[in-house]
This record gives sequence, C-alpha cells and structure tokens, in this order.
Amino acid sequence: MDYEELLKKAKKELPEIKNSGERFEIPKIAGHVEGNKTMIDNFSSICDILNRESSYLIKYLQRELATPAVLDGKRLVLGRKLNSAMINEKIEKFTKDFVLCKECGKPDTKLIKQDQVWIIKCAACGAKHPVKSKI
Ligand SMILES: [Zn+2]
Repeated sequence: MDYEELLKKAKKELPEIKNSGERFEIPKIAGHVEGNKTMIDNFSSICDILNRESSYLIKYLQRELATPAVLDGKRLVLGRKLNSAMINEKIEKFTKDFVLCKECGKPDTKLIKQDQVWIIKCAACGAKHPVKSKI
C-alpha cells in the first residue's frame, strides 16, 4: 500500500465529526451479570435521559428480551444472562419508536394517549405521530 492509499484509509477510519455536541445520544447501559441475572446499573438515569417513565421501558424490555425485569432502586434486574449489546439494541429501538420525533429527530417529546392510541408529541416542532410499536 502506498502513502496515498494509507492516507485515504486513515481518513476513512476517523470517527465522524459531531456537530457542536447538540446531537442527542442514545444512552448506553452500564451493566453487569450476577449469577443468572443481568443488572442494568444506570437504568434510572437512562429513563431520565429519555424522559420516559421507567414502567414503559421495563415493560418494553421484558417483552423484547423475553425475561422478567424488576426495578431495584436505581437499577433494573433482568431474569437471565444477557449481553449488553443486545440490551443496548433494544434501548436504541425504544428510543427511536417512543422518544425521537419522526419529523425533526429531536428527543423533546411527550408520550400521550389519545383514544387508546399512543402518540408522540414533539415540543420542538409540534409534530404529532402515532406510535406503531406496542408499549
Ligand atoms: Zn419534532
């Protein structure tokens, strides 16, 4: 490989430049396995960042991960061994389905129920759209 190619490769591998830190980052779990259970130690701060009631996220994770989940103080205890990548994937999906505005992509939204339908209402742009997934 010559110098030019190396340079190209190096550029490709650089992380994307983030714009001014304004971009919303989907939170990642800090967890560990204890015996046959998986603890999400930062569960309550994830709910805070997403601005959603913990009960929604618990219900969602229980169904998606097919395991019982119990809140224990600020952490969530899941009933089986799980790897964090799998849990992060579910949290990412939850965030996209239940938190981020589909119009402007901002997380400043509220989840409201209208006529048996869950709706995301965006505080930033005013858009409203129904939630497709089940809670
Ligand atoms: Zn919006």
